[in-house]
Amino acid sequence: MHSGLRRSSRARQAIGALPTIVSCCLTLGAAPAASAQDEVEILERLLLTVGVSGREAPVRSEILELLPRWARDAAVVDAMGNLVVTVGSGEPHVAYVAHMDEIGYMVTNIRDDGLIQVAKHGGFFDRQYEGQVVQLHTQNGPVNGVVAIRSVHLTRGLPLNDDGFNHGDVLIDVGTRSRTETEELGVALLDPIAVPKRVSQLAGTRMAARSMDDRFGCAAQVALARRIQPADVDGTLTLAWVVQEEVGLRGARALAESMTPDVVVPVDSYVTSDAALEDPRVGLHELGAGPVIRALDNSNIAPIELVRNLVDFAQSADLRLSYGATQGGNDGSVFRNAQSRVVPLSIPIRYSHTAIEVIDTSDLSELVDLLEAMVRDVAWTQ
Ligand SMILES: [Zn+2]
Repeated sequence: MHSGLRRSSRARQAIGALPTIVSCCLTLGAAPAASAQDEVEILERLLLTVGVSGREAPVRSEILELLPRWARDAAVVDAMGNLVVTVGSGEPHVAYVAHMDEIGYMVTNIRDDGLIQVAKHGGFFDRQYEGQVVQLHTQNGPVNGVVAIRSVHLTRGLPLNDDGFNHGDVLIDVGTRSRTETEELGVALLDPIAVPKRVSQLAGTRMAARSMDDRFGCAAQVALARRIQPADVDGTLTLAWVVQEEVGLRGARALAESMTPDVVVPVDSYVTSDAALEDPRVGLHELGAGPVIRALDNSNIAPIELVRNLVDFAQSADLRLSYGATQGGNDGSVFRNAQSRVVPLSIPIRYSHTAIEVIDTSDLSELVDLLEAMVRDVAWTQ
């Protein structure tokens, strides 16, 4: 989801020690077959792939590999890099949109002393990168670096400046002494930078990782495709995996200029205040309480009739769905025209835009069930 984050001097740091890494290599094959845990395995695979805004190609490749043959055959990649699958015929045309990109940095300067300066993609607290390991994704493969931080010994225990760490303060040390040495590692301008990817299983069905936003949406749409055949589609279906959401909904904007669906369903996170340090008066939706319609946020107001229809439809299918109001923006807001109605569908995410975004995978499974029902029967669009 797009943060709409401007500036905050109250950088509440939500980073804690991550527990055991549970996943490094998955065996999910290229020949898809739906199973109960399909969407969680797909999600883990996508979480471990890096796709900083503007450099989503690795994520797109993974998605293409995971799609069933009918979807791969119908897939089109547009000039922006959006991956679009359209099947079925007639009305209504319903488009589901998830974004492949994630927040992060890009190399903008290699200094004479070998240190690397960055530009920022997306809204987040830079402070969470201070003193952390990062990976630069170069043409030669990943290169490890550390983001410089001051030592407690040399500051005599005085507190660090509490309100002044932004992306201009990020200096990445890859262990070199000169620009030439850094370049010899393969580091070049515009290389994307991310935290080392890992997936941590928490208690029960809770899971933590960077880029839950919006890989869960990407995974849900892939899992949906693996459950259906084109003949199952009621009306016309578009599944779109778009680029550059975090830097201003740019991929979705290009998609909106190429098609005018009757209904657009952005599948992206619901930033919930069901989290240790948040104010529950805004955006409360409990993890594990099932999917939720992002009926109101800073970018969009979903038509209330459509919201009610969808909630009723879910109820009649014995599936959980509620609706709520939260903050931030989503890809649906660029589909403002006289034909398209927008109803963003979500699951709750804790600690959004950090390295420890937490979801409950039971919400993801329920979301895929709901999406499948919505595609097989479009009565909810009436
Ligand atoms: Zn986001």
